[in-house]
This record gives sequence, C-alpha cells and structure tokens, in this order.
Amino acid sequence: MPGLMPRPRTCLIRGGAVVNADGERRADVLVEGETIVLVEAELDARALPPNTRVIDASGKLVFPGFIDPHVHVHLPFMGTNAADDHDSASRAALAGGTTTIIEMICPGPKDEPLASFEEWHTRAAASSRCDFAFHQAVVRWDDLAKSQLRELVDTQGQTSVKVFLAYKGALDLPDAQLLELLDFSAQEGVIVTAHCENADAVAYMQARLLAEGKTGPEWHEPSRPTCVEADGVQHFATCCQLTGAHGYVVHTSCRAALEQAARARKRGANIQVECVVPHLVLDDSCTHRPNFEGAKFVMSPPLRTFADQQALWEGLASREVATIGTDHAPFHFATQKVMGRERFTAIPNGIGSIQERIDLVHTYGVCAGRLTYAAMVDACSTQVARTFGLFPRKGTIAPGSDADIVVYDPARRGTFRHADNQGALDYCAYEGMERIGATETVLRRGEVVVEHGRTIAPPGGGRYLRRERRTS
Ligand SMILES: [Zn+2]
Repeated sequence: MPGLMPRPRTCLIRGGAVVNADGERRADVLVEGETIVLVEAELDARALPPNTRVIDASGKLVFPGFIDPHVHVHLPFMGTNAADDHDSASRAALAGGTTTIIEMICPGPKDEPLASFEEWHTRAAASSRCDFAFHQAVVRWDDLAKSQLRELVDTQGQTSVKVFLAYKGALDLPDAQLLELLDFSAQEGVIVTAHCENADAVAYMQARLLAEGKTGPEWHEPSRPTCVEADGVQHFATCCQLTGAHGYVVHTSCRAALEQAARARKRGANIQVECVVPHLVLDDSCTHRPNFEGAKFVMSPPLRTFADQQALWEGLASREVATIGTDHAPFHFATQKVMGRERFTAIPNGIGSIQERIDLVHTYGVCAGRLTYAAMVDACSTQVARTFGLFPRKGTIAPGSDADIVVYDPARRGTFRHADNQGALDYCAYEGMERIGATETVLRRGEVVVEHGRTIAPPGGGRYLRRERRTS
C-alpha cells in the first residue's frame, strides 16, 4: 500500500523589499522544500497549506543568500591550524548572512590533488552548516597532478583552481608550469584564481628590511608595496592573455593593481577582479598600533591607504571590480600572531571577517552612498555565482533557485564587537567601528538556520556544490 507522501514544508516571506542584482521591489517569496517557487507582489496567504511558516519581513530587506568567494577554514600553518574549523566558521558565516562559501584547498607542495580534495571535502561535509565548494590550489604541476585535476573537474564539478605568484619557494609555480596550467584550464573550462604579487621582489624586500632591523608588523606593508602587487597582476594577465585562460585576481588591494587589470582587459585578457572586505574598510595605520596589536592586521596583500580604499569602492560601483570576498584566514592574537614577535615575516597572515562582511559592506558601502543595494547583492552573491558556475541555482531570488534567503534589518545600529562574533577567533579586527544593519533570519535551502541573528542550525547540514565548466 503506498504511503502518504509528506508535503514539503512551505514558508512565506512576506512584505519585504526583495533585492536582486538588477534592482529591488516589494514582493512576497514562497518557498517549498528547498526551492523558491514564487516571487509575487502580494501572495494570498489563505491559499497556502495550513502549516506554512510565515516570516514577516515588512520594513526589512530580503537578499539572496550571500556567497563568499574566498575563505580559508582548514588551513594548516607552521604546525598549527587557522583558528576556525568548519563548524565555527560556518556558524559565523550564517550569522552574517553568508549561506555558501568557496574555500581554498591549500595542500603542501608534495600533496596530490585527489587526496587533498578528499581531506578538505571530508572535513567540510562533516561539520559545515553552509553549502560549500572549493578552489583547488595548484602547488605542483606534473603529469599526475594534471590527470587528477582533470578527474576532479569531470567527477566532482571542481571547476576552479588557485595559483600563487607569491610565497617564494613554497607555493609558487615557475612560469613554464604556470603557462601549462593556464593552457590546461582554458581547455577544460576551469577558471584560474590567482594571488598576484612578485614573489622575488617580496623575498628581497623582506630580507633587506629585516637586515636593517625593521622587524615589527608595520614593516609588512613596505615589504610588499603596491608596485609589487601591480607587477604580479600584470604578469598573471599576460600569461592569461597568451593562453586564453579565464583569470580571476583575488584580494586586489590598490589602485595600481586595478589599473593593471583594466589595461590587461583592454588588450584582450579575460581577467576578473575580486576585492576583500578588510581592504575596503581598514588601512595600513592599523599595523602601527602599539603592543604588537598591529599584528592583528597583517595580511597579504597588506592593508593600504584611504585612497586605495576609494579606488576599490569606485571599481565596485562601476563593476570593474566583480566581487567582494573576505579572505577569511583567522589566527588567534594571543597564541598565533605572536609567533612573529621577533620578525614580521613570521606573523601568520590573515584577518577573520566571515561574519562581518555583509554588515561592513552595508555600513561603509551602501549607507555611505558608495554602492546601491543592487550592486551590493551583485558583488557579494550574484556575480560570485555567475563567475564560479553556481548561477542561477545560487545568487538570486527567483523561482527555481535554491531557497537561500537573508532577511536583513537595515535600521539596526551599533558597533562591531568581538562579543557578537560566533566564530572561534580571539579578536575582532573591526572592534568598535560603527555598524548599521543586521542579519535577522536566514534560510539555507528552505530551512531556517538563523533566528534573531543567532545561528540555530546544527553543524553538518551544508552540501557540497558541483559546479559547471566555463563555456566562454
Ligand atoms: Zn586567501
């Protein structure tokens, strides 16, 4: 005897302003099971099944779930690991409105791609509350790596890789190998994300500064000035142009680098630009804070000047900059950043921002008049989905898309406080800064995972996302 099929749960988000990358409009959103089924000006709630959950979004904004294109969670470093695991990082991400993360798989130089994919996938599948995908860092290039990367594309929909032009002798590929990898990626429809800095120049400047007794965190920026990054972008763009590869420059920090990317595009290179939220709202003066506190702000590329921040905001408004990520790479101040007390080159690089990204972009982008809501959604969700083969499943509020939805209160005011962070890190880089707006309710594929700004989903509900190849 056939059993009764349980009806999928339904949820109505009523009365909010729905914001997509092409604009905002007042609409109700109906969710059935994991999927958005209707977006209409006014849905009649009486026609819905009696157990429909109704979320009142009047006076609120309704965003598609935000996607962070650049995070580090499992990150082995100098015998330790970054402060978060997938449980804590995804708890913080959801609380900040991010429902999908794309994490960097960062293997050691001898590790095989299949084994490292397996390692990261197993960890994330066990405890991530966000849906997740990966950029596979390529730190070795040989026949084995090539065949395994092809297998990952074919069987796992693992369609993006990461290369380092920085980190001399540890993670960087020689140019001959980089070109082969780019060629391979162009053939396979794989997008190549790249950390662009001239590695030799960085190594030289670090040695010179240390020899001069310049050892504090404030010397991190002078060891990798803007011209070093611009040089890296120019170099990477040239290699992309030669091979026809689709390149994506991660964490672009300054005007000089943006100019190189724009020039490369004009001469035919297929290059996209990402910026990350620390570079938008913090500047290099932070690394001068006393009592070694400057180490909290050491990341690469380094924090720059206010003028560089302006250039990034302008690039976002004109869409020259495609996406905003975090480069979330949290290291505790008390036990990990201090490893670099004697010399800045030993300070673990990274700033935790996975929970704060959307509120920072809202406060310092939208409320400051630099971005529209539509541009914010585009940079923090839609464009990420489009670039990395997730659209329209992710990145938009439309019938047929996954019901990843953020109900956001744009009127809430306060300051950023470590006490509000739901991740594991022992400090907040944005402590005391003004904050406008707050994530209130979050749905991940139809399930309410955040209520009143607190993550309520248990660990492990996130799903691995197979992605499409690039066809253009
Ligand atoms: Zn990174």
